[in-house]
Amino acid sequence: MKPPTRPEFDLIARIRQRASHGRGDVVLGIGDDAAVLAVPAGRQLVVAMDTLNAGVHFPGDTAPGDIGWKSLAVNLSDLAAMGAEPAWCTLSLSLPSADPAWVDAFLEGFLDLARLHDVALVGGDTTRGPLSVCVAAHGWVEPGTALRRDGARPGDLVWVTGTLGDAAGALAQWRDGGGVDARLRARLDRPVPRIAVGRALPPVASACIDVSDGLLADLGHVCAASGVGAEILLDALPCPEVLRECFDAAARRRLQATGGDDYELCFTTRGTLRDAVAAIAADTGVDIACIGRIVAGREVEAFDAEGRPWRPDRPGHEHFTTQE
Ligand code: ADP
Ligand code: MG
Repeated sequence: MKPPTRPEFDLIARIRQRASHGRGDVVLGIGDDAAVLAVPAGRQLVVAMDTLNAGVHFPGDTAPGDIGWKSLAVNLSDLAAMGAEPAWCTLSLSLPSADPAWVDAFLEGFLDLARLHDVALVGGDTTRGPLSVCVAAHGWVEPGTALRRDGARPGDLVWVTGTLGDAAGALAQWRDGGGVDARLRARLDRPVPRIAVGRALPPVASACIDVSDGLLADLGHVCAASGVGAEILLDALPCPEVLRECFDAAARRRLQATGGDDYELCFTTRGTLRDAVAAIAADTGVDIACIGRIVAGREVEAFDAEGRPWRPDRPGHEHFTTQE
């Protein structure tokens, strides 16, 4: 009798074959019931998990390689926001059909990013269902040094890496149904986790978060956890040239303050640490802008160049409401 074919196992064999890595701390990777990993002595394990659903977390026309990249990037961004050094990841794939070409293309983006940060894919799960990708990323910190949301104090400065609004700009163009600028689309599809900055921040930052739901919403989480408020200068938000080319000032402001999907780090430091932040920017080659300060209170308030308060219609990013 011919054995029944199990396409799930063919896919897992494919993944296993491609997920080679050089890490000595993976005692047992893909292929057994679970992975066995050697956590370095004297470190705390840091674990993050995020799911991307088709039509909710990425447009339905997103290339499989970009879905692969982004599903790992958003998790590495969470580790960066904790100040952690990434080491391992697991991958749960729900696929409408066992399509080896799709999996190969997906893995190309996923493993390109994994190799950039020396992250080993050590296990996962493969099931049939609507397209959904769930990744867990694991890393570590020196004990007690993880960057948290609850350490901001009045008088602290608020900083953000890179630029804001690019990814949300791509999404806005995509929703309008016209052309999407390729530079903006690249920021939506292939966010760059700020691992090096995150690793350098523990001695300097009092609180940190990665910007996934929009600056005002995410800074609001820091303020709520820390029991403080914040004042943000809209004109200080780092704006890429392409956003100026594609959107008027009002739209730009909304995208930058509330858009989301940026995966930049927003952090706070004591007011005396400007030079230390400048040194991290120089060492990592990542621009870091001071965008405001922490104040007493509970509100996150944004001000324009004339000092007038500005309120968005909604503070943060909403997931897609339509299925693509
Ligand atoms: P079990 O039934 O014991 O959970 P599976 O057949 O689901 O085993 O998985 C077999 C091996 O393949 C395990 O080591 C698992 O971690 C790995 N694996 C399954 N799916 C994936 C995936 N999408 N990515 C990486 N590893 C996977
Ligand atoms: Mg399983």
